[in-house]
Amino acid sequence: MDTIAIEDKYAIPFFKKIPISIDHGEGIYAWDENGTRYIDFTSGWGVTCLGHAHPVIVEALARQSRKILQNPSSGLTYSPARAKLLELMGQILPGRLCRVFFSNSGAEANDAAIKLARKVSGRLDVISTNKSFHGRTISTASATGQAKHREKFNPLMPNYRFVPFNDIDALKKEMNDHLAAVILEPIQGEGGINISSDRYLETVSDLCEKNGTYLIIDEVQTGFCRTGSMFAIDGLDIKVDFMTMAKGIGGGFPIGAFAVSQEIADRIQVGDHGGTYCGNPLGTAVAYAVIKYLKDNDIAGHVRKMGQLVLDRLGHLQGRFKDSIPDIRGKGLLIAAECKNDTLAGAILSECLNRGMFVNVTQGNIIRLFPALTITAEEIQEAMRIFESAVETIVGEKQAI
Ligand code: PMP
Repeated sequence: MDTIAIEDKYAIPFFKKIPISIDHGEGIYAWDENGTRYIDFTSGWGVTCLGHAHPVIVEALARQSRKILQNPSSGLTYSPARAKLLELMGQILPGRLCRVFFSNSGAEANDAAIKLARKVSGRLDVISTNKSFHGRTISTASATGQAKHREKFNPLMPNYRFVPFNDIDALKKEMNDHLAAVILEPIQGEGGINISSDRYLETVSDLCEKNGTYLIIDEVQTGFCRTGSMFAIDGLDIKVDFMTMAKGIGGGFPIGAFAVSQEIADRIQVGDHGGTYCGNPLGTAVAYAVIKYLKDNDIAGHVRKMGQLVLDRLGHLQGRFKDSIPDIRGKGLLIAAECKNDTLAGAILSECLNRGMFVNVTQGNIIRLFPALTITAEEIQEAMRIFESAVETIVGEKQAI
């Protein structure tokens, strides 16, 4: 079977494909159909937080699939798998967030949060930030502050406005009593790993509270230990009304979620939202296994250490190639190497692939490094050696580190 030819013939061509067909994975590694091994420094786009084929995920899937995949009458009936996950989430959700609904993806969670914020507030306007990314449904594309995701689909949903990220004065000027919600990533992922200040998030929260506006925090990319704490907003003094999640929550199984405060839950009525899968037993069993593993093994602490290792190595590399790589930034294992232009970033990505390592490029010139959170120090050294030699080859300056 020629996988690539078949996919190219029958799949809708939404992607500029990489001609590699992946057969299987283990930990941070993935193998193609020819048996070539790659280091996955994308963790399947920030998803496989425990690495590929982690035993706790495999076991949870096998165990639950032998019992039941989908309940009779779906969400109308109760599920021990869902209940276990809900209880565990109750232990990890920040601040006043206490009630959860499970979706199938991040976009769906954001879509629902926006829809419900409008319904509950009785207001229509939504503010998002430039360079944000919240999904590809029509309402989340409308909330996404990047022209390439928007302009081909005009007219989008009305009443969305945009302000620069991490700029409190700009937001202040837009506050009025039509504003239902502000939607915000604590760190913009697709936007290029742009890190907001704690002070910014706390002030946004105060402004929203004073204005009767709901704050939707999008932790789809940052959640579940990616940035070195269970959630990027952990420890901040902010009042979140909706928090959206996906990616890491299922470690590779497609599941998302949104959490709300009791205040919001009290204003929601039966029938306001739903979905066929809405936390089906299979997805919730896997998410429970993933979160329990993250928690029991202090993966957040591990991520802080491993993230620092990557940042240190990249900092050293950047010191040697300042003109080509003007900036290195990140938090935990969500890390960016900013290249001086798109051509350079693309060439480094290809060279990494030639040398057996997947990295990801966002915004054209930002190389994003976001491996599995369980990566070891040795594996980081192995990956960084590849990355460094790719940069040396492409930038053309070979010099011992
Ligand atoms: N929000 C953020 C911050 C994201 O990074 C993404 C995906 N990259 C989404 C929402 C959309 O999630 P999904 O692809 O699961 O719909």
